[in-house]
Amino acid sequence: MSTEQVDVVVVGAGIAGSALARTLARAGVSVLALERSKEYVDHVRGEYMHPWGVAETQRLGVHDDLIAAGGSDIVRFVGYDEVVAPEEADATAFPLDTLLPGVPGGMSIGHPTSCRTLEALAVGAGAEVVHGAEVLDMTFGATPSVTYQVDSTERRVDCRVVVGADGRESSVRKRLGVELHRNDPRIFLAGMLVDEVRDWPDGHSSIGTDGDSMLYVFPQREGTARLYLGFSIEDKTRLAGRDKARTFLDSFRVEAIPDNARVADAVPAGPCAAYPMFDSWTDSPVAEGVVLVGDAAGFSDPTIGEGLSVALRDARMVGDIMLEDDDWAPARFDSYSEERAERMRRLRFCNQVYTDAHIPLGPDRVAERRRRLQLLNGGDPDLFMSIAAMACGPEVAPETSFDPSVRDRLLAPA
Ligand SMILES: Cc1cc2nc3c(=O)[nH]c(=O)nc-3n(C[C@H](O)[C@H](O)[C@H](O)COP(=O)(O)OP(=O)(O)OC[C@H]3O[C@@H](n4cnc5c(N)ncnc54)[C@H](O)[C@@H]3O)c2cc1C
Repeated sequence: MSTEQVDVVVVGAGIAGSALARTLARAGVSVLALERSKEYVDHVRGEYMHPWGVAETQRLGVHDDLIAAGGSDIVRFVGYDEVVAPEEADATAFPLDTLLPGVPGGMSIGHPTSCRTLEALAVGAGAEVVHGAEVLDMTFGATPSVTYQVDSTERRVDCRVVVGADGRESSVRKRLGVELHRNDPRIFLAGMLVDEVRDWPDGHSSIGTDGDSMLYVFPQREGTARLYLGFSIEDKTRLAGRDKARTFLDSFRVEAIPDNARVADAVPAGPCAAYPMFDSWTDSPVAEGVVLVGDAAGFSDPTIGEGLSVALRDARMVGDIMLEDDDWAPARFDSYSEERAERMRRLRFCNQVYTDAHIPLGPDRVAERRRRLQLLNGGDPDLFMSIAAMACGPEVAPETSFDPSVRDRLLAPA
């Protein structure tokens, strides 16, 4: 078996892994990234990035490359929802392009495109990326190493640090023995990429509830859009049956979305898959010889679309620490672990408030939801900031916005 030696092995060359590999490689750190897939394909993952995530792409120096590869600015958020008339939703659209100085808005971009682009940047900076790599064994501690197989050949690579960037089901996290905390799912979120969306304004995203559905529209370029559909966790058979893509699209034929055929008559352009939505987290993403980043370190409930931003901030913070000096002892990552724990705590709170306002689903709960959305949008600065934090970044809102009493005010009976 051949043995190599590098400074850092990154397991998983997705969003967080490729972004970090690029940062380290361009500073002269030798990096080997092991990616399980042969090529990046649509697994129904994140394709909308909030403005604070876009700010992270700028700080990482990858923003213009992502736009050049097909990313588009999302400048308005329109809340098409059964409790608001469509004209009112249009008139009160939330501006995303003026939230953070120098940030043009959110960004919409295919997940495989983001991965390919970040990987190409990492390779251009000098990192080696091996696709089709199956990790067979890992040791951490003072002398970390990873054994992997590619094209039926077994190899071992010794390094100073293993970075676990291998997503939700992280093998690095499991090998490290870190169990994630998690809360109970309240909804399923299904997603599908579609083509031939007609006349949807460029740069306008929408999320709202109608009946028993939470409906998300994120336009990409040239009539393509990423759609998501949220529905009750009890409704397990909602997309059962042979034509789940059709059932999915028909959910968008609702009055809340004006001229809804623009979306509902679109053409499927990728798989339709549903996942239960929950937050997961750990306060210990670092141990001797190993650092977890992105979903591998615990993930924000995708209902509020924070995972890409979280992954990119992780990559930036860990990269900055590793490039500050040559000491990569676990204590050097304390600022990352502490900031991440607080960031994820705040995002869990954002998610609770957001889902409290968009669920309960169903016609008998409309009045309750209308009242909650009105509370969110007016009068209570802490409630407003607990939601605005999703777009601006969890650190932007004051600590008082994440106090349990804020949520109590939202849930208090009329
Ligand atoms: C339905 C759904 C909708 C979402 N919507 C949004 C959204 O709108 N906005 C948002 O910001 N986030 C969203 N997310 C979350 C977002 O996709 C993730 O948080 C983000 O992709 C995390 O990046 P990552 O690099 O940690 O993981 P990934 O992007 O998952 O990358 C992990 C990589 O590791 C590779 N890998 C896995 N196992 C191994 C292994 N054993 N060895 C080697 N390689 C391995 C994978 O092939 C992959 O390339 C959504 C998630 C879901 C499930």
